Amino acid sequence: MPQPPAQRASVLFPMPLPEPFDYAVPEGVRVAPGDHVLAPLGKRTAPGVVWAVGDDDGSRALKTLEGVRGGPRLEKPVRDFIDWTARYLVEPPGVILRTVLRSPAALKPSPVETVYAPTGAAIARLTPARRAVLDAAEDGPASAAELARRAGVSSSVVKGLAEAGALSAREIEIDPPFDPPDPYGEGLELTAQQEQAAVILRRLVAAGGFQAALLDGVTGSGKTEVYFEAVAELLRREADAQVLVLLPEIALTQAVTKRFEDRFGAAPALWHSGLPDKERRRAWREVASGRARIVAGARSSIFLPLPKLRMVVVDEEHDPTYKQDENLTYNARDLAVARGKLAGAAVILASATPSMETLVNAEAGRYVQVRLPDRVKGAVLPEIELLDLREYPAEKGEWLSQPLIDAAAETLERGEQVLFYLNRRGFAPLVLCRSCGEKMKSPEADRWLVEHRYTGRLVCHVTGFSMPKPKHCPHCGAEDSLIGVGPGVERVAEEAARKFPDARVEVFSSDTAASGEAVRALVERMEKGEIDILVGTQIAAKGHNFPRLTLVGVVDADLGLAGGDLRAGERTYQTLVQAAGRAGRADRPGRAILQTHKPEHEALQALKNGDRDAFLEAERMMREVLKLPPYGRLAAMILSAPDAALVDSAAKAIAAAAPVAEGVQVFGPAEPPLGVVRGRWRRRFLVQAERNVDVSAYMRAWTARIKPPSAVRVSVDIEPYSFL
Ligand code: ADP
Repeated sequence: MPQPPAQRASVLFPMPLPEPFDYAVPEGVRVAPGDHVLAPLGKRTAPGVVWAVGDDDGSRALKTLEGVRGGPRLEKPVRDFIDWTARYLVEPPGVILRTVLRSPAALKPSPVETVYAPTGAAIARLTPARRAVLDAAEDGPASAAELARRAGVSSSVVKGLAEAGALSAREIEIDPPFDPPDPYGEGLELTAQQEQAAVILRRLVAAGGFQAALLDGVTGSGKTEVYFEAVAELLRREADAQVLVLLPEIALTQAVTKRFEDRFGAAPALWHSGLPDKERRRAWREVASGRARIVAGARSSIFLPLPKLRMVVVDEEHDPTYKQDENLTYNARDLAVARGKLAGAAVILASATPSMETLVNAEAGRYVQVRLPDRVKGAVLPEIELLDLREYPAEKGEWLSQPLIDAAAETLERGEQVLFYLNRRGFAPLVLCRSCGEKMKSPEADRWLVEHRYTGRLVCHVTGFSMPKPKHCPHCGAEDSLIGVGPGVERVAEEAARKFPDARVEVFSSDTAASGEAVRALVERMEKGEIDILVGTQIAAKGHNFPRLTLVGVVDADLGLAGGDLRAGERTYQTLVQAAGRAGRADRPGRAILQTHKPEHEALQALKNGDRDAFLEAERMMREVLKLPPYGRLAAMILSAPDAALVDSAAKAIAAAAPVAEGVQVFGPAEPPLGVVRGRWRRRFLVQAERNVDVSAYMRAWTARIKPPSAVRVSVDIEPYSFL
């Protein structure tokens, strides 16, 4: 038989290198794109992935691959997604590959352990120790150590029983596969409106291939139940299809996991950045091998290598947590749509307050529109009232105004629950010295330190820096002179406890509910009615269903409006709809009271009148006139350097290198609000382009022209959300 010609392989390494490198494939070895290999790189051997193969004509002297590693091949749609994302985000493809290969240990098969189970065979001498082990083994197969622990004996007794034939040994995988979902599991009986929506989504699934849909339904309209129908339809049609469900908060995964279990008889594979190594390894391997069918996770799960991806759901698609602002900057919602296109998958974007970007896409006919205008089971949306703080100011040093306190008292009297919503962690957002006026600043960033009273620390919410609250003012030395100014959730909780001494008050923020477990416990206490007043940040405002919660008091409805970034109005509106939407979800009518100094603001007026369209119209006009997204495109370039002179000279050179292009304007360099972070001086450019301009291509062209000194870091942010 003729030998096939020798192969040449381009290998992409999970590192910030500009492109894949070519290698000769050793004789007798065949590789295919997506295979995991080891290759010499400089003086060492590095793991990489074959990106392309060709015939080796021997015309170039190439280094030779050192080996092929096992593990699930990265399929073409996944590789295409990596290439596309790299170009879109203006990053080397190896950086995206590194993000995809988040669990190196997962390339190896699961480690195994030996477990023992009773055989039923009778044995001659049954000592009490042996008896105890056999009893313990009745509870299910387990390792020798585990059986010995259950029986309270030494593990040699287990081994003895195995030798005597009373226990049989077998090897099992330590990382077990996830149970497959049952697409025939029974769901809730859909309302007529839900059924209509489900019909459209089922049809979309049946058509196959890429199509995006916007599932636009008010809070409590039962959107989850509707997209479950689409998931079930897909799994009935294609048993090995994979579904990815993106969720905005890890806090929500707990609740959603439970709903998946109820519906599909199996929990989804979970993925988020806080997973312990072992679970990360298990989830990655099962997902990459195609065995895990339903994956639910935070924004980073958009990078999981699902080989058979057929559907992506982005729940609360408008949520700003889908945008990662640090390190690799990306918007998981936008990547989800791109990924759906490349994989031929359906994409369902669900929200009660869709982003302007998504609405415009839907209206232009690029996305199918599915609407759920009413809550299920006759539940009505809460009545929204604006409480003018100019007319009813709170007492000095307090934050709850009298009409809100009265409403809370009535609610508690009826045995119902209250949520005070304030999107500010900690006790006070600013700490100053009563004696000299000095404000406590973070030593690492241009930011005020936030007082956290539960921990007694001052914390920087930008860098995470924290220190114990000093006894003496570091500036003038006065004793006990540092006071917290302004409200955070902890301070509002103190006030609530003072006003309602008999009420059980708890704080719900990422500080008090730091782990999934803590969130679950808190949500459970709330559901069981063990909490009367919950004081929470945005983590409390999303997705939870608390049947006895009938009053939401928004402590500062103006908070989000001050920021001045382009999405401030939209975000305030979305957040307040979500927060207000917590009230009265079941059969009890709810009320939402928004404390404000600007009741005339259009976002607040729209909320009060339940007139989303009016708000969107005003917002849309503003964006259209100013050519802001989605009517124009934005990109940012951020530089940082260890000293101000260096960053300024680099910025000057970079500004001079900006390509001239039609429909593109470059603003900057400007000193951003966060001028210094962790000892690095920062400067920003903002690029504003017409909608038809490929802003990524522009940024690639620009970055290709610059060569800043190595101490200067340059990063690109496509469609930035943060302007700090
Ligand atoms: P959304 O995501 O639109 O806010 P959910 O899907 O969370 O709404 O549903 C809100 C509540 O209504 C949940 O408690 C859910 O179990 C319940 N629900 C949804 N659909 C139905 C239905 N058809 N029958 C009964 N209860 C439903």
